[in-house]
Amino acid sequence: MQSEKARLAALHSYAILDSPGESQFDHIVELVRSLFDTPISLVSLVDADRQWFKAKAGLDAPETPRDVAFCSYAIESSEIFEICDATQDDRFADNPLVTGDPHIRYYAGAPLVTEHGHRLGTLCAIDTVVRRPLDARQREILERLARIVVDEIELYRLRVVGRVAKLVSETASDALIFADCDNVITGWNPAAERMFGWTAAEAIGRSLALIMPERHRDRHADGLKRVAQGGAAKLHGKVVELEALRRDGTEFPIELSLANWQCQGSGRTEGFASIIRDISNRKAMEAERAHAQQFVETVIENLPSMLFVKDAETRQYVRTNTLAADMIGVDRNTVIGRTDADLFGDGEADLLRKRDDMVLESDGVHIFEGDMAGNGPPKLVRTKRVSFSDAGGKRYLLGISDDITDHMRAEEKVAYLANHDGLTGLQNRKAFMTDMLERNRSGQVFDLLLCNIIQFRRINEIHGRPAADALLVQIAHRMKQLLEPGDCLARIGGNELAVLRTGVNADADRLRFAQKVLVAATSGLRIGGVEIALNAKIGGALFPRDGDTPFAVMHAAELALNTARQDKERQIRFFEPGMDVRARRQNRLETDLPGAFERGEMHLAFQPIAGLESGRIEGFETLVRWHHPELGRIDPETFIALAEQNDSIPELGETILARAVAEAAGWNPPLSVAVNVSPGQIYGRDFPGNVARQLDRSGLAPERLELEITEGMLLDNRDTVIAALHALKDIGVRISIDDFGTGYSSMAYFDMFPFDKVKIDQSFVRKAHESKHASAVIRAIIGLGKDLDIPVVAEGLETDADLSLMLELGCAQVQGFLIGKPAPIETFERVIIDRTGASTTQIGPARRTA
Ligand code: C2E
Ligand code: MG
Ligand code: MG
Repeated sequence: MQSEKARLAALHSYAILDSPGESQFDHIVELVRSLFDTPISLVSLVDADRQWFKAKAGLDAPETPRDVAFCSYAIESSEIFEICDATQDDRFADNPLVTGDPHIRYYAGAPLVTEHGHRLGTLCAIDTVVRRPLDARQREILERLARIVVDEIELYRLRVVGRVAKLVSETASDALIFADCDNVITGWNPAAERMFGWTAAEAIGRSLALIMPERHRDRHADGLKRVAQGGAAKLHGKVVELEALRRDGTEFPIELSLANWQCQGSGRTEGFASIIRDISNRKAMEAERAHAQQFVETVIENLPSMLFVKDAETRQYVRTNTLAADMIGVDRNTVIGRTDADLFGDGEADLLRKRDDMVLESDGVHIFEGDMAGNGPPKLVRTKRVSFSDAGGKRYLLGISDDITDHMRAEEKVAYLANHDGLTGLQNRKAFMTDMLERNRSGQVFDLLLCNIIQFRRINEIHGRPAADALLVQIAHRMKQLLEPGDCLARIGGNELAVLRTGVNADADRLRFAQKVLVAATSGLRIGGVEIALNAKIGGALFPRDGDTPFAVMHAAELALNTARQDKERQIRFFEPGMDVRARRQNRLETDLPGAFERGEMHLAFQPIAGLESGRIEGFETLVRWHHPELGRIDPETFIALAEQNDSIPELGETILARAVAEAAGWNPPLSVAVNVSPGQIYGRDFPGNVARQLDRSGLAPERLELEITEGMLLDNRDTVIAALHALKDIGVRISIDDFGTGYSSMAYFDMFPFDKVKIDQSFVRKAHESKHASAVIRAIIGLGKDLDIPVVAEGLETDADLSLMLELGCAQVQGFLIGKPAPIETFERVIIDRTGASTTQIGPARRTA
């Protein structure tokens, strides 16, 4: 006996309760009424607490409560339930349907049993009079009619299902297509019309090949045949993705669910139902997503950095690129799912965990730098870490790492180069100053020595740059040998080295050390086996005595060095307070030098030069004079050197030359005029051209002009100088070599250029009486002059004895206080010369053209 619950569920599944009346049920109750001759017949369905009549004849009520229903008893068994006199039955005697309307006396009910055995209700015949029981034939008729009722109830359900199916079919967005076993389309819903472009009228009756791309048709036909012959439908019950064909010939992706149906009991497939979904959009989206995914993948893989993503909770790697995996030294796929503890040693894993913690505890990007011992040599890695959450709120750690080993090496190199001299490897000026600042902070006492190698330019020119560099390296190496721990050596200029020496006590010690530095910088140096003689000057200052900051002590040492440079005798000078005053004076002169002629502070003095053979004044040397309004008379050597240094010598020289030639042009007799030329004048602009213009303007005959150059001028840019001298000589100007004997390889100069005159330096003349050496030099020069046919002039004759000696030695000309002191030209007016006043012509430097 099935449970009441299952019975009710079965009843409700027919959805028949409370449905409108239907003729086929009405016909049956009418038939029962006439066959059994009863006034009442019902199709009663027994619900939970009522019986509801699907069909009724002879009764008005649509339903009755269940507790009074005879049918409730009738569904207890599969047999017909029959009561002949209800008044005589204890179960019904008090039933209101018995005691009252409709006064039931007789009841016969056949249960309505479904194929699953559920008794839904009854088909019953009811009378208001007592009757005899039904005979066997009558019972069979009632039972058969009850079975027809059950079939009708089943059909009712199918009709409902059919209506629903039709509705679904019409409103579905999926195409529903039915076909028979011959592949002929039998059903085609509106969605199919939209999807394929064929109307139902056009599609129905045609082959299903209509919607299949040509290439799939054969395969489909084979499968169909197999199924029709009783084989299993491969696609049955499955959802597959295929291509379908539209009316316009285009193909599109579909998702197909296929069902085949069989007629009850036949075991043979009767037809197919296909549910077809157009998945073009989904496919396009999938393709797009796959492409996006692939793109992200490619970006990550091609990222020129290592990338990793860890699960914030488990700290397992969920993502890396190959670069990162390579760095760790494992395969990219093996990293996934592992933690740092799995991959690295305890120490490293612990460190990484702490870093991750920091990132998770606060927002923003965290940058860490550290060594990483992965595959290969240890690397320095810079990692940026951030945390982020995915759409579901799950947190992750993202890291991007870069190998900065090379970068750091390059940075170190840059830092090294920024602080060191590329040639000698010594500290450079900047690093040296920094070093001093540090020592200053720690209160160290030290001696600062600046060593300037002079005439280094000459070495460059004569021996070439590589040789000069090699010399510097040698010097640096030799100086390094002198250092004690804590001392320091730097190259602070092209030819300037600085030594910082600690542990200084006495001045004598300072001097001894400075002398060693001097020796290291000047003697015993060799290039290609040839010994090279160098000169150097050293300036020293003591910290903090001579300057209480690194800059002050550097300044003091520079002053001392400048003083040493100007000192003709001493090569080493230590800072003395007065040097500062001198330096200030130099600065003042430098500022005041331009325009000194115009302000009337500068003028030309002329010193007579006498010919020994003629016994007459044969010419004058022009000597510039500067009387500074505050500083008084300034030595020409001082301010000429200044003008050389600050590059104003071309202007000054031009003014002097212009004034001198203009003056001489007016002399009678036409004596010669000598003008001193400074190196900067010749190196600079077109000096010969300028001289020619001055001569032109003044009208002075070129052969009356003597230009005096010094030996030093031939040291630098020799070719330029010699070319200029030749050009001057071509104009007709004469060239003298001044201060001869004080320079270097004096005799060689005669080979270089055919000088017109040689002026022996006054230092020889002055010493000629006491020094055999000096008189021998004078004699040699005069001898050479005679051999080469170059007249020799002796300078600085002060005494009669000087004069007699020069007469005896055979000098051509003499010059000196004995003959005449340098003085304004007016001094010599009418005594030696008559002047036409040519000096009143406007004289000044030609304007510099840009
Ligand atoms: P310098 O060309 O050899 O000039 C001769 C120097 O010796 C002059 O010194 C002159 O006054 C001095 N002198 C002449 N006779 C005697 C003497 O008997 N006893 C002594 N003790 N000195 C004598 P000054 O004028 O001081 O000039 C020095 C140097 O300055 C010159 O040497 C020359 O090299 C340079 N100088 C002077 N004027 C000019 C100029 O206008 N242009 C250039 N470029 N250099 C000049
Ligand atoms: Mg001179
Ligand atoms: Mg001279």
